[in-house]
Amino acid sequence: MGEPLVGRMREFGTTVFATMTKLAVETGAINLGQGFPDTDGPQRMLEHAAEAIRGGFNQYPPGPGVPELRQAVSDHRKQWYGLAYDPDGEVLVTVGATEAITAAVLALCEPGDEVVVFEPYYDSYAAAVAMAGAVRRAVTLRVDAGRFTFDPAELEAAVGPRTRAILVNSPHNPTGTVFTREELEVVARVCQERDLIAITDEVYEHLTFDGVEHVPLATLPGMRERTVMISSAGKSFSVTGWKTGWICAPAPLVAAAQTVKQFLTFTASAPWQLAVAYALREEMAWVAAQRAALEAKRDRLAAGLEAAGFGVLRPAGTYFVQTDIRPLGFADGLELARRLPELAGVVAIPTQVFYDHPGRGRHFLRFAFCKRDEVIDEAVTRLRRLGGTARPAV
Ligand SMILES: *Cc1c(COP(=O)(O)O)cnc(C)c1O
Repeated sequence: MGEPLVGRMREFGTTVFATMTKLAVETGAINLGQGFPDTDGPQRMLEHAAEAIRGGFNQYPPGPGVPELRQAVSDHRKQWYGLAYDPDGEVLVTVGATEAITAAVLALCEPGDEVVVFEPYYDSYAAAVAMAGAVRRAVTLRVDAGRFTFDPAELEAAVGPRTRAILVNSPHNPTGTVFTREELEVVARVCQERDLIAITDEVYEHLTFDGVEHVPLATLPGMRERTVMISSAGKSFSVTGWKTGWICAPAPLVAAAQTVKQFLTFTASAPWQLAVAYALREEMAWVAAQRAALEAKRDRLAAGLEAAGFGVLRPAGTYFVQTDIRPLGFADGLELARRLPELAGVVAIPTQVFYDHPGRGRHFLRFAFCKRDEVIDEAVTRLRRLGGTARPAV
């Protein structure tokens, strides 16, 4: 029969998260690879989901999403960002941010169109672009003054006559960078000068640290009309398994995404939608407490990684910290990630897998800190053994 998988998907094997999580399970290592919290979201929100199920809210909800959630999303955008989106026509509920991104790319990009992404990028972007038959152009985020940022000239150079869209993820996974207003102004200028659509992945919108503010690209002058703004309950409310996300955009862009979305999944699961509508209204104080707790976890893991000998790039948001492995005498993050369970009983993610130019991310390892303190402490204790191991020149 030969290789059954179509050519355009062949570069995408099993995701690195599945591979590394399997390695953690097989070896009994602590999993600081995949970014899921090991504690639950707000209790009342969980009860709302259970009540929705018991109350018979179990049949197909409307395609765009249940009205309660669309209204809650619209109110949340208005309250937090001063952005007005009509719950009827400008809000679309999706099966997580992942489906929102894929539906937007499939709906807006013709085969051969180009999509600009910032590398290292969240892995589903590349797959979504490939499914559309489009072509990605990666702009590399490089370390400058302790954070990852981009060179405006490289962004401009990445845009060509076939460029249709730019995918912007801030707060950014896997680097932890939160784009500043000045950086977003560069993106906004390029979008407007070159007539591009911005697809923004803002799933970590509420998880920023040290008082750093998340600025949605759509709030910049001239950007609301060309931005597909994507969020998700998974990260904000620590329910990554609920897969409930949403798109906010002008009606023609939402209609385009919905045309595709209705044949991917038709609609998102009903019970979670009611629970998330409740949470967006009533649990933002819980989110604020969660943000503070995560900031403390970032500091805890960062200090531990520094003590273990890693070069640490302190993130301004998200669940993740990037480390430079060279101070420990290692050079290749992929090789170290494979050996880390045996060397130290910990699993991390080699950042180079998120690049089109892997050499540029070869010396980085990503660790997740959205874990209980005792898990972080045990991981750090184990990682401190690394300094004592032979320093192979890998
Ligand atoms: C977790 C994550 C997603 C996926 O969100 P879901 O709502 O689970 O689909 C998308 N983008 C980034 C950057 C993420 O970290």
